[in-house]
Amino acid sequence: MRPFHESPFQSLTVPITRASTIVFDSLDDFVNRSTRQPDGFTYGVTGTPTTRALEREIASLENGAHCVVYPSGQAALTAPALALLRRGDHFLVSDGAYGPFRDFCVRWLAQLGIEVGFYPANCRGTFRDYVRPNTRLIHIEAPASLTMEMPDIAAIIQAARAGGIRTMMDNTWASTVAYRPLEHGIDLSIEAASKLLGGHSDLLMGSVSTNDFELHKKLRDVQNAVGLSVSPDEAALVLRGLHTLDLRYKAQAKSTLVIAEWLDDHPMVENVHYPAMRSHQDFDLWQRDFTSAGCVLSFSTKHSNLSQYKDFLRN
Ligand SMILES: *Cc1c(COP(=O)(O)O)cnc(C)c1O
Repeated sequence: MRPFHESPFQSLTVPITRASTIVFDSLDDFVNRSTRQPDGFTYGVTGTPTTRALEREIASLENGAHCVVYPSGQAALTAPALALLRRGDHFLVSDGAYGPFRDFCVRWLAQLGIEVGFYPANCRGTFRDYVRPNTRLIHIEAPASLTMEMPDIAAIIQAARAGGIRTMMDNTWASTVAYRPLEHGIDLSIEAASKLLGGHSDLLMGSVSTNDFELHKKLRDVQNAVGLSVSPDEAALVLRGLHTLDLRYKAQAKSTLVIAEWLDDHPMVENVHYPAMRSHQDFDLWQRDFTSAGCVLSFSTKHSNLSQYKDFLRN
């Protein structure tokens, strides 16, 4: 079968190609199938033309050369850790990391003999204090999950480069619209495509993009070794979602700013955590690095009394 773009049926959309085993031209071709990696086709687990089309699309949004999609954002966060860290390495993680990933670091990586350390989610000048001689990989998330602090990303990148340390960033909040990590020198940009890239709450997916071909090969290898396959049907849904990503993102950011200001004036609200709001303590870093507001915020109430909290949600 010819690939879809050479097909006489010139659809505007990417066709859904479902496959596990594929046919090889010769025994030699089959025996040497690993030479087709990282982006050729060998077996459904490492992708079909549909997932490959999505990977190309996400890589281009990230302004990167390569991308691997995984079955969830969480899987996409764990893949770089599995690809790059070995016993005795130190992994430096943002204290504001997405909860399940933090859990993975503490409960799983630590058991594999990898040292896991945390730096404050709003770390600025003191970042170097957290780097050790065996630090191999640094995780960044901006803003932090739930608490929404911004770290000084540029300072982290500078420290990482000085020490020859790889960097990965969970870029789900900015979703390539407000920030593109690879353009700033981060090695791996991770998106929970379940959120803004997919855009309709009907699928789970994650992506890891990079400009480094050696890293890309390792990430494809992890996908193969752990069996982290992505359904072509879901890849087609994300391809559809991407058409409206920019429009959705900007409309949602506008609404979120209105909601943030409304919450800020609310008598029961103590603090609104939204770095795109002028009163946020990390507004300067958000303004320096990001080109748009995002659509996730959090807030704390003045009273921690549960019944008052319930009243607040009812009103
Ligand atoms: C949701 C989310 C993830 C995980 O994505 P899943 O697809 O749900 O596994 C990771 N990071 C951030 C910031 C998220 O919001």
